[in-house]
Amino acid sequence: MKMKTAVYPGSFDPVTFGHLDIIDRAAKIFDHLIVSVFAHSTKKHMFSIDERVAMLRTALKGKKNVTVDCFEGLLVDYVKKKKTSVVIRGLRAISDLEYEFQIAAVNRTLSPGIETVFFMPRQRYTYLSSSVVRDIAHFKGDVSKLVPPHVAKAIAARK
Ligand code: ADP
Repeated sequence: MKMKTAVYPGSFDPVTFGHLDIIDRAAKIFDHLIVSVFAHSTKKHMFSIDERVAMLRTALKGKKNVTVDCFEGLLVDYVKKKKTSVVIRGLRAISDLEYEFQIAAVNRTLSPGIETVFFMPRQRYTYLSSSVVRDIAHFKGDVSKLVPPHVAKAIAARK
């Protein structure tokens, strides 16, 4: 049984195999998944919003029920605008829980109809984060096992 639209928000700076794993799982359960890049200007970033959106679009080409977007402002307002109430997040380990629990609780306080649904990635991606990728890239390490080839290329082009 599939259910309506869900929004998967994040920085995706850059998209990793961990994000793609969560997207695959969510897209199997929901009719339509909107992967949306949070345009948070104060966070230090490696790629611009447009670059992150483009890299996600390339990674998700061919996935018919997944679209890529970006948003500014409060997540709950964006989710309402998209006429849904479901937010997808990934849980890598217990260490993610405190932060995710706080965001989910705040979002529910702001908008009681919002439900946050968590997915666990396959074991091999539980250590993987965009910041790990950025750190490895900074020291010119090999990121080919962590991100899709076009993202690895974009990282290499940065050096
Ligand atoms: P943020 O910028 O909020 O830390 P990210 O853009 O890195 O978020 O990730 C968005 C969501 O994807 C978060 O819920 C995060 O926990 C999840 N996520 C990131 N990497 C992975 C991974 N390797 N496995 C599972 N979930 C992940």
